[in-house]
Amino acid sequence: MYDVLIIGLGCAGYTAAIYTARYKLKTFIIGAEEGGMGMTAAEVGNWPGDIEVRGPDLMERFKKHALSFTDLVTHKITRVEKAEQADGGFRLTLQGGETVEGRTLIFAMGSNKRRLDVPGEAEFSGKGVTYCATCDAFFYRGRDVAVIGGGDSAVEGAAIAAQVARKVYLVHRRNEFRAEPYWVDEMKKRENIVFVLERNVVEILGDQKVTGVQLDKEFEGSPELRVDGVFIEVGSLPATALAKKMGCALDDRGFLRVDEAMRAGIPGVFGAGDVTSGSNRFAQFATAAGEGAVAANSVFNYLQTGA
Ligand code: NAP
Repeated sequence: MYDVLIIGLGCAGYTAAIYTARYKLKTFIIGAEEGGMGMTAAEVGNWPGDIEVRGPDLMERFKKHALSFTDLVTHKITRVEKAEQADGGFRLTLQGGETVEGRTLIFAMGSNKRRLDVPGEAEFSGKGVTYCATCDAFFYRGRDVAVIGGGDSAVEGAAIAAQVARKVYLVHRRNEFRAEPYWVDEMKKRENIVFVLERNVVEILGDQKVTGVQLDKEFEGSPELRVDGVFIEVGSLPATALAKKMGCALDDRGFLRVDEAMRAGIPGVFGAGDVTSGSNRFAQFATAAGEGAVAANSVFNYLQTGA
């Protein structure tokens, strides 16, 4: 029986594991993929202490730090439930049937990219449609691409894609960006980015692979943009399926509801990072790490006092 089970191998999960291990709690950390959303950040310029660092490099350092205290397991979990024995606790079932039990639980599974839900999206997924401009832009050297969205992911993604693509269309449904002004400025410096504002993509066009996108309104005389790649960056949805199944409450936007101590409503269950309603839902490396630390501290207090 572990003291704490941590689900999620991203910034929040790794931080929680570093803290719980240093509290000398027997820690088990598991996740389907190492690094989480941090792996998609081409350049991180707001992680204190690093003027600029690549997301995958930062996550590798987090992992190495966590591994200096505890083992971690990469595996998919199919079920999370309360254990039946008298002293309570929780049980994880891994894909393949193996089970692991712990006295407390931290959900830190992050989020998954939101789909645009238009015709052609599923058909051309992996054939020109992808959900991470910063990860996949490299494959479109010298080609024309479209990035859809107006948040940090889209704007950063367009700026990065413009370093290799011939032309980048940034398609956004409004004429203002919600992205950090730093990235908006970086994007505006790129002469090969074409702003297609106050437009929605209504269909992804293709034949075997992507050939373009159909807009809801004409742009420069045509409702169609001819592109070889489409990066859909329209936000993320918290990965709450397992927590919801266990009976944890979600907020009005589907995030795992937590209090200021990162308690998730069921005694012994905590949350941290992008999956939660914490930090005013501001999804950053700094906030995820902070939430991981608070959740670990709350686990420590709970195991000592029961509160
Ligand atoms: P986001 O901030 O939620 O932005 C999503 C964007 O997609 C918005 O501009 C939104 O338009 C648009 N959108 C949503 N649904 C749409 C639809 N159905 N059709 C067309 N457009 C749609 O998501 P994100 O950019 O992925 O960022 C998520 C979180 O990660 C944020 O907290 C962000 O700060 C963080 N992040 C940070 C960095 C960084 O600091 N460098 C990098 C990446 C992500 P509206 O603006 O009109 O709502």
